[in-house]
Amino acid sequence: MPIPGSGLAKGLAVTLRTMTKRAHTAQYPEVQPELPPRTRGVIGLFEENCTVCMLCARECPDWCIYIDSHKETVPAATPGGRERSRNVLDRFAIDFSLCMYCGICIEVCPFDALFWSPEFEYAETDILELTHERDKLREWMWTVPAPPALDPAAEEPKEIAGARKAAEKAEAAAAAAAAAAAEAAAPRAPETDTPTTPEGDA
Ligand code: SF4
Ligand code: SF4
Repeated sequence: MPIPGSGLAKGLAVTLRTMTKRAHTAQYPEVQPELPPRTRGVIGLFEENCTVCMLCARECPDWCIYIDSHKETVPAATPGGRERSRNVLDRFAIDFSLCMYCGICIEVCPFDALFWSPEFEYAETDILELTHERDKLREWMWTVPAPPALDPAAEEPKEIAGARKAAEKAEAAAAAAAAAAAEAAAPRAPETDTPTTPEGDA
């Protein structure tokens, strides 16, 4: 049979033990938390890259991306050329009250227009306020951390390799053109008459 008051004594002992230890409580909001670089806080939109392909909205499992656009005709770049039409973004919004932060929209975007930002201070008291429009999503782009440095042993990205080869080719062509121009401009040595031996002389 337990001694009466032993539970209370045990509880007090625990209280006394923990009273002298440092608390691990994060003093937010006075102290900002140190978040990992790949924190999924909110989604930023780099709208300059968005071609309104609708892939993100189609793949979002929660159907919480809203995109509106219209078509615009771009005049032909050269005389006799063909007019082109392009999509112009009118609205891009994400309802963060539905979003489950799966990141599928960011993964599927073929044009690098969506990014994770560690920003997390956008709580609202009204759920309707959690639908954020393109201006706010564009603003969050400023909080997206720079990508980590490439692994020095990694294969060169195709885009960079292509750009480097094109630059090397252009440089070689310019050097060849400069060499040809220098050769053409160089003074030519006068031609000397070679004495001819009359036939029959030996
Ligand atoms: S993170 Fe997932 S749920 Fe949220 S908008 Fe993107 S695809 Fe939709
Ligand atoms: S997938 Fe990317 S480019 Fe396409 S609509 Fe979405 S954000 Fe824009």
